[in-house]
Amino acid sequence: MHVLVLGAGQLARMMSLAGAPLNIEISAYDVGSENIVHPLTQAVLGKGLSNAIAQADVITAEFEHIPHDVLDVCEQSGKFYPTADAIKAGGDRRIEKALLDAAKVNNAKHYIINTRHDFEQAIEFVGLPMVLKSALGGYDGKGQWRLKELSQVDAIWSEMEQCIQATDTQAIVAEEFVPFDREVSLVGARSSDGDVVVYPLAENVHINGVLSLSTAINETALQQQAKEMFTAVANELDYVGVLALEFFDVKGALSVNEIAPRVHNSGHWTQQGAETCQFENHLRAVCGMPLGSTEMIRPTTMVNILGEDTLPVEVLAMDSCHIHWYGKDKRPGRKMGHINVCGHDYPKLTDNLAELGRVLDKNAFPVFNG
Ligand code: AMP
Repeated sequence: MHVLVLGAGQLARMMSLAGAPLNIEISAYDVGSENIVHPLTQAVLGKGLSNAIAQADVITAEFEHIPHDVLDVCEQSGKFYPTADAIKAGGDRRIEKALLDAAKVNNAKHYIINTRHDFEQAIEFVGLPMVLKSALGGYDGKGQWRLKELSQVDAIWSEMEQCIQATDTQAIVAEEFVPFDREVSLVGARSSDGDVVVYPLAENVHINGVLSLSTAINETALQQQAKEMFTAVANELDYVGVLALEFFDVKGALSVNEIAPRVHNSGHWTQQGAETCQFENHLRAVCGMPLGSTEMIRPTTMVNILGEDTLPVEVLAMDSCHIHWYGKDKRPGRKMGHINVCGHDYPKLTDNLAELGRVLDKNAFPVFNG
């Protein structure tokens, strides 16, 4: 089986590693250079999409910011999973909000802004404080503003106006500020027969808008609520593959913040912590194979490595730690790899994390500060 992945980053790389035992071979389309590359070595295998589409049995995507003409040509081949519409929903907050409303899942009150008049209407409808997000191109907290009081309106509008005018298709989505207790996410898979499996929820810690830690949790009532919301969204999209929903947890009630129509950073813990990892389950789903068990086999936390290309040798020596490098050139803040930390129970996981925190540089891993 040959799968072409749109996008050539770490997610395509980890799909390739997970696919090999099932004889699933991956090639990756680098959207920037338009080259077909090997997902592990980045060696150029070819140029242009048409040949690669013809040679692939199945086509999928590892990120949502893909030019629509590329998505459309892939979809026309009849080999593309999940669907172009699902990828577009993940890349445009306007479509995402419409999807969440259509699936009737709880999400923050919102209003779309194209003009200054819309901004005033949004303030009236949504109320303060509010979070303002660019509809396109924003991720990891980029392209966002916080409006706390009316005195900020002119200054924020002038920045948002520039953002809106930068392209023909940009807009701003105003959202009510959600006073959440914590952020959690659910990663799961839906097969072409409509079967849905989900992993245990992960509790996520962000620093400066970027995911820092993700820990699989075991909370039955919240899990049930999240699974119902996941199933509603996946069914609405007639989704095939791995999908992630990010939630705000407000006193035990979940509100969807965003969706990711792909394997997700908060699901990397499944490589060591679940019976079948998210990368394998995505490939199983898009290749029409039975889905694998999502059962947690041991409590696990994923620690992102940001902007660093080395770790103290002690980390590799720890029985509880599993390092996954992405083979990327070092840049400040860049996702370079992750460490999966395991424990045979939660108290042991806490101990193992504390031990890791003592070894890591606190400037590079501020999540271990204090
Ligand atoms: P996002 O890019 O939508 O994931 O937002 C980045 C981060 O901003 C989230 O992880 C939250 O911590 C925070 N955030 C986003 N939207 C809201 C909201 N409506 N209310 C409160 N905090 C938010």
